[in-house]
Amino acid sequence: MSHLMNTYARLPIAFSRGEGSWLTDTEGRVYLDALSGIAVNTLGHNHPRLVAAIAGQAGRLLHSSNLYRIPQQEQLADRLAALSAMDEVFFCNSGCEANEAAIKLARLYGHRQGVDSPATIVMERAFHGRTMATLSATGNRKAQAGFEPLVSGFVRVPYNDLDAIRAIAKSNQNVVAVMLEIVQGEGGVNSADIDFQRGLRALCDDREWLLICDEVQCGMGRTGTWFAFQHAGIRPDVVTLAKGLGGGVPIGACLVAGQASGLLQPGKHGSTFGGNQLATTAALTTIEVIEKDGLIDNAVVVGRQIREGLGKQLGGERGVVAIRGQGLMIGIELDRPCGELVTQALDAGLLINVTADRVVRLLPPLTFSADEARELVSRLAPLIRAFLAAA
Ligand SMILES: *Cc1c(COP(=O)(O)O)cnc(C)c1O
Repeated sequence: MSHLMNTYARLPIAFSRGEGSWLTDTEGRVYLDALSGIAVNTLGHNHPRLVAAIAGQAGRLLHSSNLYRIPQQEQLADRLAALSAMDEVFFCNSGCEANEAAIKLARLYGHRQGVDSPATIVMERAFHGRTMATLSATGNRKAQAGFEPLVSGFVRVPYNDLDAIRAIAKSNQNVVAVMLEIVQGEGGVNSADIDFQRGLRALCDDREWLLICDEVQCGMGRTGTWFAFQHAGIRPDVVTLAKGLGGGVPIGACLVAGQASGLLQPGKHGSTFGGNQLATTAALTTIEVIEKDGLIDNAVVVGRQIREGLGKQLGGERGVVAIRGQGLMIGIELDRPCGELVTQALDAGLLINVTADRVVRLLPPLTFSADEARELVSRLAPLIRAFLAAA
């Protein structure tokens, strides 16, 4: 038996090579990757420019510590600020760490506003991570069970329900921030309505609350804009990033603007690895390639092609509740739990995921081609049809 802690119900398969949207396992079988390691491999696998940049940096300097200046980190902060219209960036190594920084910021901000016990409004079905604070912010009782006492200071509301938030504004004087995913990933690929986002921005302005957008999964071009909040033309006060930022190299970021700027001073927060030379070089190169190769436009076009293709093949199926998402963040909701589709897809040479019990989730690399999209639809649609017919 393995000495690994049993934290994952792993599939009995290991990959030894990747090329673009394709992965080869240790037995030599080839799979179409429509998951990208859960929205991580933004540029697909073995992208020559990313490989060269990482190898080059590894041959010069991997890490020097945040006790010193790191030019690549400064450049990456400049690039992210320009792309997002945010002002300042803190670097860490993962999504939960980026959200921890955001949650700490909200508390600092609240205390500065004279609120002794600051609270953050969070959403049902949200996923923000597995550390104690981010787990407490997460809207999934199963994930929280056994880890009580949870971190206090979170108030939960239904997603897309501005009235519920307005009601809390009247009754709870401790609220200082609202935190949400513009497109919920683990929660089943649910998008925040444009009107809800704009109303929420206005409410946050009115109440002087911070609007915190967790774009760990939906950011970095995945939904067809650099950041998902840009569809609504709003600017959050805090944005968190991770998954796709480094194209496969671990890196997270917490971006702030306006009144959320300047809160963290030396001694208030930090990360040993955060934003080191290797990780920031990987992220800078990932951004460069997304721009140069027009991958955001590609996400729009190929994402639409996949949704339309699935719509044509599955539109008449009674068990298909919805085909939704934006860009290359796609969910197919069925009327019943469908976890077994993951292994059936594996047998058909296709990597997908099922989340929230009944939602098939697709997160292909942003480099996904029109041919690969056709191949994905032609492999997946018959599996879903057969699954619905058998059950
Ligand atoms: C994956 C995810 C996280 C957690 O990221 P880790 O890197 O696993 O800590 C947080 N928020 C969202 C929206 C995510 O999808």
